Amino acid sequence: MSHIRGRFAPTPSGYMHIGNARTALLSWLQIRSMNGSFIMRMEDIDKPRCKPELAEQALADLRWLGLDWDEGPDMGGPHAPYTQSEREHLYASALDQLEQQHLLYPCYCSRAELLSIASAPHGLGSEGPVYPGTCSRLTEAERAERALSKTPSLRFRAAEGPYTFHDETAGWQTFAAGGGGDFVVRRADGIISYQLAVVVDDAAMGVTDVLRGYDLLDSTPRQLMLYEALGLPAPRFAHVPLLNGTDGKRLAKRHGSIALASLREAGVSPERIIGWLAALSGLLPQPEPVRASELVSEFALDRIPKEAVVVTDELMRYLTG
Ligand code: GLU
Repeated sequence: MSHIRGRFAPTPSGYMHIGNARTALLSWLQIRSMNGSFIMRMEDIDKPRCKPELAEQALADLRWLGLDWDEGPDMGGPHAPYTQSEREHLYASALDQLEQQHLLYPCYCSRAELLSIASAPHGLGSEGPVYPGTCSRLTEAERAERALSKTPSLRFRAAEGPYTFHDETAGWQTFAAGGGGDFVVRRADGIISYQLAVVVDDAAMGVTDVLRGYDLLDSTPRQLMLYEALGLPAPRFAHVPLLNGTDGKRLAKRHGSIALASLREAGVSPERIIGWLAALSGLLPQPEPVRASELVSEFALDRIPKEAVVVTDELMRYLTG
């Protein structure tokens, strides 16, 4: 085994669908094609939104597809536990470390206040507009006063200038305002943000290669700033274009039966799904039933299309038969 390590990190807040399956497949193929270890990690840090049954279902769906992993919540491994809700002590100590460097400050802004800056330019798709730093300028007295009526979230002080990084599929990327301004690392309800948890975990688990959907490209500067501040080595990143519906929006329920569990129930074979996803990802000329393991030698990052793939009704019909 090489030292290459990758992971798939589903959030069990809904059923796995063909978009998740595609990310899982491509990440798995990338790692298996380099003889690396593949990790499964359950990202249930936002507990109120997640369900243990959905986590179980996700693992079952992914195994049914023909994917496997060397470490994970169902089998353990050297970096156990592999479920974020059981790793909170690690996130707390990362917060301490950032606190000691004076990189955090409490933010008392309400949702309404944050929404009122929604029209600001350079907003990040995934996390709203650039935070203008309102609460970073509060005096101690103002903080004490606001603390009487509100529990704050904690924000990380982002770099001020533009932030540039290299993505293995998308190329060089530059984001203004340190990649979107100061961002939340712990919500007012105490829940640790995805950004912090994912960095702590990928570093602790020795992940060398992250392949995930384009929707997380703009989270990457934030994560890289956290790696830097925590003195942790960052992985390589490859963000792959999303699967979209004919309306140009990200594939979702309204585009048809896209949950793996429903396709399975409808009698669609895993090989059919894998072949279909491989064709949409530039790894096969036509969709034809194939096992995931048969695609390992076909995988190359540069075969993956650079643009979002539109899943037409016809393609959808091919999948469901
Ligand atoms: N848990 C995240 C999601 O389901 C993925 C995290 C990542 O790949 O960095 O969207």
